[in-house]
Amino acid sequence: MPVSGLPPYDDGNVFARILRGEIPSRKVHEDEYALAFHDIAPQAPVHVLVIPKGRYVSLADFSAQAGAEEVAGFWRAVGLVARQLGLEQQGYRAMTNMGHDGGQEVPHFHVHILGGKRLGAMLVAPAA
Ligand code: 5GP
Repeated sequence: MPVSGLPPYDDGNVFARILRGEIPSRKVHEDEYALAFHDIAPQAPVHVLVIPKGRYVSLADFSAQAGAEEVAGFWRAVGLVARQLGLEQQGYRAMTNMGHDGGQEVPHFHVHILGGKRLGAMLVAPAA
């Protein structure tokens, strides 16, 4: 039974394939808990995705199912990657899309790190 409104984990999703090395990515960091790589269609001068190594569909799934060590290791990697990208001084945005209303396209939990310019309003238009 999936934790969220999304289907169960699909091992054929594009990030699972990147983790297995079947699809190339521009890697910026890898450790026991996380892989970080540049987004293929960047929305800001710096746009990096951080994904857990485990099979989690979404934030809902990850936050409910991952072990404490995995959760800590993953979020430490998010902070570390942003620091290594040189974004801390000027700031950055870290965000995740969850499910249909969040606009999640890839069903493997991921955090977007966006920066390199002043990003402006959080949403393009007010939510309807
Ligand atoms: P979501 O909408 O699920 O939060 O974000 C998915 C992100 O994955 C998008 O920003 C999209 O550009 C990125 N993406 C989709 N396919 C690939 C891929 O094959 N390689 C990389 N590096 N990024 C991808």
